[in-house]
Amino acid sequence: MTKVKAYGAQDAASDLAEMHIERRALNPDDVQIDILYCGVCHSDLHTARNEWKNTIYPSVPGHEIVGRITAVGDQVARFKVGDLAGVGCMVDSCGHCPSCADGEEQYCESGFTGTYNGPVFGGKNTFGGYSQRIVVKESFALHITHAPDLLAAVAPLLCAGITTYSPLKHWGTGPGKKVGIVGLGGLGHMAVKIAHAMGAHVVLFTTSANKVADAKRLGADEVCISTDDAQMAQYANQLDFILNTVAAPHKLDPFLQLLKKDATMTLVGAPAEPHPSPEVFNLIFKRRQLAGSLIGGIAETQEMLDFCAKHGLVSDIEMIPMDYINSAYERILKSDVKYRFVIDMKSLG
Ligand code: NAP
Ligand code: ZN
Repeated sequence: MTKVKAYGAQDAASDLAEMHIERRALNPDDVQIDILYCGVCHSDLHTARNEWKNTIYPSVPGHEIVGRITAVGDQVARFKVGDLAGVGCMVDSCGHCPSCADGEEQYCESGFTGTYNGPVFGGKNTFGGYSQRIVVKESFALHITHAPDLLAAVAPLLCAGITTYSPLKHWGTGPGKKVGIVGLGGLGHMAVKIAHAMGAHVVLFTTSANKVADAKRLGADEVCISTDDAQMAQYANQLDFILNTVAAPHKLDPFLQLLKKDATMTLVGAPAEPHPSPEVFNLIFKRRQLAGSLIGGIAETQEMLDFCAKHGLVSDIEMIPMDYINSAYERILKSDVKYRFVIDMKSLG
């Protein structure tokens, strides 16, 4: 076991602060990664503040991890010391249930083990990427094929990238499809880039009028201010798919009404309180569907990283030192981030 510096919360009410955590000694199938950068996901904030009522303290968030391999166990075959590697939202799963067998470890029937906050159905706590180092099974580590100088901007792909790539692909995003993205935050801005790269016609729905120009630069063909009923009405029955990334409870009906017959709106945003229940008639009269999606499997995460490398896609980031994290959380709550904070882990040194 080694002791490393980390940053975390001792309880729901206090700010994150420096602490020390233990990293396990390497198992034969483990890799040790010295963390260079870690993205800041809204889920980190939900967890640090116990908004989902399941946080185990102390809590060290961070599941958009990139770094360099500094040691490997005896049986490790896919990584060597010196390689760049990434870790996303999961560090383990049962490995043999039908979901794991399908390569969809995020839906593991026994519950996957989160990179932070422990196994989904309870167990020993795990500590995330706001730390100097992580030890992880090689089967949950990802290869980075982007140019090394893009590394900090690759970090957010490990959650924001895969959480949007997976449903966009699953629901058939591609040429000839008109796809709506709701919310231009960390997830939303990656969704715009990825849907555009998949060849869809992208409509971004935002509550922030000051994000219109950015949305177009990022790949949106059209931008609609979702609080403007007249603008929303123009898209009635138009969209083949909507990916909703909003982190707060809001009315779903105005978006459901924009779907074509048989089309789906998928929620990936995970607010602490439920959305108001949608109007059933908005679903039944056009056989529309309301769905959800959770991150993506490990093989699909590698596929997403390779897709993004091929298409030159990374996150738009604002680099911060570790001790800025509490201010960063406040800015996330004001939708004031363009479009992902990434922690330079040297600052924890
Ligand atoms: P984020 O960067 O804070 O972005 C959320 C965006 O939602 C904001 O930028 C804003 O966009 C919009 N928004 C915020 N408050 C709003 C409100 N009251 N009404 C309407 N729109 C609002 O968050 P994120 O990191 O992208 O994460 C988004 C959500 O996804 C979080 O709940 C997170 O926990 C969840 N998540 C889920 C998964 C999964 O596997 N399903 C994975 C990762 C994260 P505009 O300014 O453009 O309106
Ligand atoms: Zn996340």
